[in-house]
Amino acid sequence: MLVDSHCHVDFPDFHEDLSEVLERAFAADVGHLLCVCVNLADFHRVLAVANRSSQISASVGVHPNTQLEAKDEPSQEQLEILASDPKVVAIGETGLDFYRDDCDAHVQKERFLRHIRAARQTNKPLIIHTRHAAEETLELMQSEQASQAGGVMHCFAEDWTTAKGALDLGFYISFSGIVTFKNAQELREVARKVPLDRILVETDAPYLAPVPFRGKRNEPAFVKHTAEYLADLRGLEFPELAALTTENFFRLFSSAER
Ligand SMILES: [Zn+2]
Repeated sequence: MLVDSHCHVDFPDFHEDLSEVLERAFAADVGHLLCVCVNLADFHRVLAVANRSSQISASVGVHPNTQLEAKDEPSQEQLEILASDPKVVAIGETGLDFYRDDCDAHVQKERFLRHIRAARQTNKPLIIHTRHAAEETLELMQSEQASQAGGVMHCFAEDWTTAKGALDLGFYISFSGIVTFKNAQELREVARKVPLDRILVETDAPYLAPVPFRGKRNEPAFVKHTAEYLADLRGLEFPELAALTTENFFRLFSSAER
């Protein structure tokens, strides 16, 4: 069994064929998926997907690039209340992304720290997105004691120094289809070094489909290609890698139903 630790199957991309997408995932031995929230306005959608099956969990959070009016910024309390739904196993996705300049850095930082505080308060792990902001992300994780909540650096595409910084804070590292891309040599070096008890796999569907589906709409069933690739990279048999990433997932997201 495999787990897709991060997907957005609530997105309109799946509006037409979600049932088939989920069937294909379960048929491909993806025994669990975590549907990740990027905007509180869509949280009901995430929850509706998660309520379809005990094999689907939800998170609650606002992505660093989600543009909001100041009055719509999620408060720590709001996050905590929404996180009390039994389907919610994590806080996020949150973090910092300075790659796109559509969201003010200060606003992102304030938003990120409210998520970290909510995670500590509710004792639910964080799903962290970081892009072009590795140092600032680690700094905030440290100063806000994110290690008390723990969590995962999702869709990891940073260097080893950043991976090491997150690992030292007790965080897990999740690999997406990016690791299968031709130009991802540096990331493969990181993937060779992350301790086996800290690795997760994800699709980030509908984005970032792994080879051989690169460029197409991604879906949870495709997590198998990333997992097979990683097994190869680590010199493991596929079932071993599948078992250990699944164990890692349920250890981290301990309130997810098995
Ligand atoms: Zn995502």
